[in-house]
Amino acid sequence: MAAYSVSCTECGACCAAFRVSFHRSELASATAGGVPPQMAVVEIGNTMRMCGTDESSPRCVALQGVVGEAVSCGIYAQRPSPCREFGALAQIGIYERACNRARAMHGLPALPVDD
Ligand code: SF4
Ligand code: SF4
Repeated sequence: MAAYSVSCTECGACCAAFRVSFHRSELASATAGGVPPQMAVVEIGNTMRMCGTDESSPRCVALQGVVGEAVSCGIYAQRPSPCREFGALAQIGIYERACNRARAMHGLPALPVDD
């Protein structure tokens, strides 16, 4: 497993690269401590999407700071499940390729990847 060589708080590329979709039940209007409804739009049916993540230059509305320098999630404790899962897997070295796709979109160097 590759060593993880960058802190997510120095990166943030995935929050400005991928569409972030989740079930409506994760909204704060349905679950205490959930995603603030004003930060999401209906994607289809019961699927919501974080605002800004489906733009031609995606950037989640909750992302604060400068990608590749210093970032934070403005709703960290309320972030939806895809963010929790991606970050957790990234930190144990499983998602380097996805990280690197996101990082490449921002001109950031690739993380080491095990074959
Ligand atoms: S999970 Fe990967 S792409 Fe996302 S902030 Fe962390 S290192 Fe960057
Ligand atoms: S909710 Fe937070 S962790 Fe998820 S994409 Fe937006 S800024 Fe990133």
